[in-house]
Amino acid sequence: MSRFLIPVLFILSWLQALGAENVSAEEQQSRYVTLVYGDMSVLQDFNSNLRLNSTLESAIHQKNVITTADEVLAKVDIVIEKVQVVLSMFPDNYHVHVVLLPDVSEISRIYKEKYGKNVTNIAYYSISEKTIYISVADTRLRVLAHEIGHSVVDYYFQQVRPPYNIHELMAQFAEQHVTD
Ligand SMILES: [Zn+2]
Repeated sequence: MSRFLIPVLFILSWLQALGAENVSAEEQQSRYVTLVYGDMSVLQDFNSNLRLNSTLESAIHQKNVITTADEVLAKVDIVIEKVQVVLSMFPDNYHVHVVLLPDVSEISRIYKEKYGKNVTNIAYYSISEKTIYISVADTRLRVLAHEIGHSVVDYYFQQVRPPYNIHELMAQFAEQHVTD
């Protein structure tokens, strides 16, 4: 049995009782991000898979990090700041939700539920929800940077949204240059 099954079932029944739609048990917030995850094991897996390069890593030491959640929030904030520098886009009021899901099957399930389509994405950004969904099992710095790229571009171009291919190109640019 999956070690995620019990907590997820528990969360689902708890949320059903509340009449809530999204699977969200824990929420932690920083300046730029609200992190949503089912349990500590998901958070820890995300933390160990999100390895920063030494330049980004050194910025962590300047932050007040005590718990795993603090560390994860500090890392994600640093990646967001770097992506904004890479894209030269510093949108006002930028804030993104990052939903940590155990694996690709959970991403597919949620995507299918919302959009009725089958996908095998390891992550995606929802423009309407200002939310990144990411598979913790497949989390890498570049994957997160790509989705953050989408979110920064989304916030920056509030009036006229760039065409899909251009949106994608900018996210790829963020992904390629996050380790510069
Ligand atoms: Zn993309």
